[in-house]
Amino acid sequence: MFGKPKYTIVKIKKKDIPDGLCTKCEGCAQIIFNKQLDENMNVCPKCDYHFIIGAQKRIELLIEEGTFEEFDAGLRPKDILNFKGPKTYVQKIQEDQKTTGLLDAVITGSGLLDKKKIIIAVTDSRFIMGSMGSVVGEKITRAIEQATKLKLPMVIISGSGGGARMYEGMFSLMQMAKTSAALAKHKNKGLLYISVLTNPTMAGIMASFASLGDIMIAEPKALIGFTGPRVIEQTIRQKLPPGFQRSEFLLEHGLIDMIVHRKQLKTTLSQFIDSFAG
Ligand SMILES: [Zn+2]
Repeated sequence: MFGKPKYTIVKIKKKDIPDGLCTKCEGCAQIIFNKQLDENMNVCPKCDYHFIIGAQKRIELLIEEGTFEEFDAGLRPKDILNFKGPKTYVQKIQEDQKTTGLLDAVITGSGLLDKKKIIIAVTDSRFIMGSMGSVVGEKITRAIEQATKLKLPMVIISGSGGGARMYEGMFSLMQMAKTSAALAKHKNKGLLYISVLTNPTMAGIMASFASLGDIMIAEPKALIGFTGPRVIEQTIRQKLPPGFQRSEFLLEHGLIDMIVHRKQLKTTLSQFIDSFAG
């Protein structure tokens, strides 16, 4: 009574899928088609794992098309210290410029978010771990100064596993004070600054502008902190609690105000800007 099935089940082996078509989820190990991932804002459709996204994509997701005006697009980093390591600073810069299409680890500019003009800066962890050298510090400072001058809200989205950029030594450390001072002036004018922490936000970035938001938002399960867990465990000779330095742990301990899913980020930012203005 049961005829032959009208279909056959074809097992797809991983080797049959061409490279660059699929990505293995770091959260649930599922294989996801890149197209599907792209349509889902680079969030895993199965487990909600938030993949790292670049600064250009982040701006596309938040700022209305055709309204983004980039600031200081031509600023490029310089090897002031003639840094030599396993790779020279110049080599690192050239490699990451090629893979990311950026000149350095940040994009800054103005644009409309839900019809409201804001100034935005986004750091990109794909470029020397999103670390802050002179160009990143200068661009962020100028963007904040522009927000202060035009009395606009400032939004900074951090994706920086590296903090102050070691290749620029003291010049990078200076940027921590410089960006923080610019934010203090913005705050003194009674203006709103929202800091969004994404995976990962660490070290000199977290110890400067990223932790100074009037409102502190994080994406789910982002790694956020100053020193990484391994170094802390070695220093204090104690095991750290589970989930230490993840968004959920930091929310519980009061360091951030809320965790927002990438799909709700634009609406959430818009609501805060409205309620602050009203
Ligand atoms: Zn997943």
